Amino acid sequence: MTKMQSAPSKPLADISKLASLWPTAQQIGDKPMIWVNGRMVPKSQAMVSVYDHGLLYGDGIFEGIRVYRGKIFKCEQHMDRLYACADKIHMKIPISRDEMIAVQRHCIEVNGFQEGYIRLVVTRGFGTLGLDPRRCPVPGVICIADQIRLYAPEFYEEGMRVVVAKRPKTPRVCLDPRVKSLNYLNNILAKVEAIDAGCDEAIMLSTDGWVTECTGDNIFIVKDGVVYTPPHTTGNSGSLEGITERFVREDLCNACNVKCLVKEMRLEEVLKADEVFLTGTAAEIIAVNAIDTDGPGTGPRVIIGNGKEGPITNKLRKKFREIVTSDHVPED
Ligand code: PMP
Repeated sequence: MTKMQSAPSKPLADISKLASLWPTAQQIGDKPMIWVNGRMVPKSQAMVSVYDHGLLYGDGIFEGIRVYRGKIFKCEQHMDRLYACADKIHMKIPISRDEMIAVQRHCIEVNGFQEGYIRLVVTRGFGTLGLDPRRCPVPGVICIADQIRLYAPEFYEEGMRVVVAKRPKTPRVCLDPRVKSLNYLNNILAKVEAIDAGCDEAIMLSTDGWVTECTGDNIFIVKDGVVYTPPHTTGNSGSLEGITERFVREDLCNACNVKCLVKEMRLEEVLKADEVFLTGTAAEIIAVNAIDTDGPGTGPRVIIGNGKEGPITNKLRKKFREIVTSDHVPED
């Protein structure tokens, strides 16, 4: 054996045990039925190609949408954002907006959902092993209608603890925070900081220290009876144009007779707030009752207000639930 010869490779049979760690089609099951590139297939058959650039490079966009009482909540706004995001990444969605809505309705109907969550995914599509998006002639379109539960139900009554991520948000000169892209690694690693600290969400700051949003939610504070949220372009970074955030700002605050202002904020203002709450399609509205200020469990913990859900957050959350459980769920 010469020195250059490589060590004998592990027997393939050994490595292929990996296959047994993956769930079988039977374990995955058939429900819900999922729409993948023009076909409605059982969950166990819902696949994308390993050559899809959505998988290879995170090249694509997505939407998360709620279904309340059989209605697609804020459907038009979600379509506006999806098609705007596609434009921002120079991608042409291969089906029209009306067709995209029809696909969602079809998924809800086939699965018989009155309440649920729709995940729309548009990938750059099947291509070659290089970054070039021109090698992906047709974007992939996936529509999953399923259920989602982000946070423990008791957190909605009590509020939840969050951390301030040490990892700042990608500057917007690098990536527009309004693009809901398939590349969430920046957010996921900030979320891992939260998980390491025994909680579920992290506040992300811009590289110059401005409060932007959380890993999957927008952020609001309440001070002296006024509600504040940061603008979508804040400091070096910014935030997603959240549809729940807009609903709170434009409708729920009015309905609850509270003033709402968009204002840049430093972390200190959040820590001194009377109330802090987060918004998102999956999260809805949820109070923050404590903030770990120095990353995973090491820094001082700041209790927000009296350490419970505050009165304005409570009013807004109740109003939100009242609307989404009523006969008049807004689709636009
Ligand atoms: N910010 C980020 C980073 C998000 O991913 C989301 C959506 N989960 C939000 C904010 C909230 O946006 P929306 O209310 O439209 O769900």
